[in-house]
Amino acid sequence: MSRTEPSIFTRIIEREIPANIVVETDRLIAFHDIAPQAPVHILVVPKTPDYANVAELAAGDPTLLADLVALAQNIANDHGGQFRLIFNTGEQAGQTVFHVHAHILIGDLGEDPRA
Ligand code: 5GP
Repeated sequence: MSRTEPSIFTRIIEREIPANIVVETDRLIAFHDIAPQAPVHILVVPKTPDYANVAELAAGDPTLLADLVALAQNIANDHGGQFRLIFNTGEQAGQTVFHVHAHILIGDLGEDPRA
């Protein structure tokens, strides 16, 4: 779903605002979260603004979702290979940017929220 205003992530992709970029491919970009919630907290973002959340991405472009997960693993491999991958989906789940993105959390993560 497109938004009339470019998302903050589109502005990062377009280099309108700075970010600490980890890696970029033709269809994905990964950069450090501005407010890290773990020792390593990286966002992986499809460049297209067409999908607001992971369910829309899965339905609309499953190959891109698979590529996103593979890129997350590649990034995590530089930090020991183990990671938590989170897609907040919906405001009540904590989603604030409606341009699909995955949080890669690595390191001492503390309590699993399911515990
Ligand atoms: P959400 O809450 O939608 O799941 O995640 C959005 C994430 O984007 C948050 O963790 C927030 O800290 C991060 N974020 C928001 N604005 C910026 C920004 O301008 N730069 C970077 N690098 N991260 C941002």
